[in-house]
Amino acid sequence: MNTFLSSGQLALQEQYLKFVAEQIAPLAMALDTEQVSSKEAMTLLAKGGYLGLTVPREYGGQGLGALELVLFAEALASASAGLALALASHYSVIELINKFGSDTQKSRYLSQMASGDLIGAQAFGEEMAGSDYKAVQTTASGDSSGWILSGEKTWVVNGQMAGLVAVLAKSGSDLAIFLVDGTPSSNIVVGPNKAKFGLRSAATCDLTFKDCKVSAENKLASASTAEVEGQVDAVLNLSKTVVAAAAVGIAEEALKFSAEHARTREQFGQPISKFQGIQWKLADHSVESQAARLLTYRAAWSHGEEPGDFRKFAAMAKLFATKVARVHSGEAVQIFGMLGASPDSPVERLFRDGKLTEVFEGTSELQKVVLKEELGV
Ligand SMILES: Cc1cc2nc3c(=O)[nH]c(=O)nc-3n(C[C@H](O)[C@H](O)[C@H](O)COP(=O)(O)OP(=O)(O)OC[C@H]3O[C@@H](n4cnc5c(N)ncnc54)[C@H](O)[C@@H]3O)c2cc1C
Repeated sequence: MNTFLSSGQLALQEQYLKFVAEQIAPLAMALDTEQVSSKEAMTLLAKGGYLGLTVPREYGGQGLGALELVLFAEALASASAGLALALASHYSVIELINKFGSDTQKSRYLSQMASGDLIGAQAFGEEMAGSDYKAVQTTASGDSSGWILSGEKTWVVNGQMAGLVAVLAKSGSDLAIFLVDGTPSSNIVVGPNKAKFGLRSAATCDLTFKDCKVSAENKLASASTAEVEGQVDAVLNLSKTVVAAAAVGIAEEALKFSAEHARTREQFGQPISKFQGIQWKLADHSVESQAARLLTYRAAWSHGEEPGDFRKFAAMAKLFATKVARVHSGEAVQIFGMLGASPDSPVERLFRDGKLTEVFEGTSELQKVVLKEELGV
């Protein structure tokens, strides 16, 4: 299957897997129980040079593409899918600046994001504006001399540690995106860490903007709401591809554990792997994980090589890979039997994390809305 990747990408993949095995995997349980914070883990990623993969070299990054980012996210998710979600949020802001930022915004922010001095967060959603993000109620008032933001954003991954927050707001009846110098700030109230059953290593909170001043040059240039919708789409296409990669990491990890358990657990005088009912689960799991991986790599490849197809393949990859993660991490729990119900079992966490990948960066249903649009129906 690796014929899809160049020798350089294979070497990077090996390096990513080694880094994750040595530095992140030993923390997997502590990250899930929040004894180690995602901020501490992001510091490890920064030290390893993994927060600027897609930042151009001229801004201190590695100048790599979406496929290399996806390889890293997949490796990372094998140890901590929540951390891969934190990664997706950081890189979604990088994508926004790479694609739509002014020269000033690029030189002000990209090198600091690549070094990890600034962590990015994406604050698009609100209580009444989830899938329908155009319904945001956060307001931006002002003009070319500066802006004032007011409103409440919810479920913001990296919100507590973000040095730069991409905020979607309404200016009159038009949508606009602002790059807001982040927390701590006296004009941004940071909510407590949200409890959630999965992806706990992605620290998530509400952010309330109280007459928050934003300089004029921190508004992303846009001539119309349609152009802003294109900017949101571009950000989500990248982050949903990264989430698809995280789902592949979850699925592959679940397969490794359930095959091993099936080989060693004995019932009726033989390993349960001898039963056809178990064999077929594992066979389906291996096929669908590989299919999800190839679709995710295809999406990431089109980001640079066939941009016109990126939206379609990103939606396909997110829809399919997250379903594979949810279904087969559930089957892994089934293969583990009672042991699968225990928090000490590795598949229990994978099952909790796998389900949640279907919800953010566009739910599965919304990916189908994208796909029917791509079909022109
Ligand atoms: C772990 C986690 C992390 C998150 N991180 C962030 C973040 O960093 N930044 C951020 O801005 N947001 C974040 N979110 C919010 C996320 O973007 C929203 O949860 C998501 O967009 C869905 O919105 P909602 O939850 O309001 O669901 P709703 O939009 O209320 O949808 C409810 C249900 O209705 C379905 N539905 C809605 N519209 C349609 C339709 N047109 N056709 C068919 N079905 C439809 C949905 O698929 C879903 O099943 C996060 C959420 C979670 C759970």
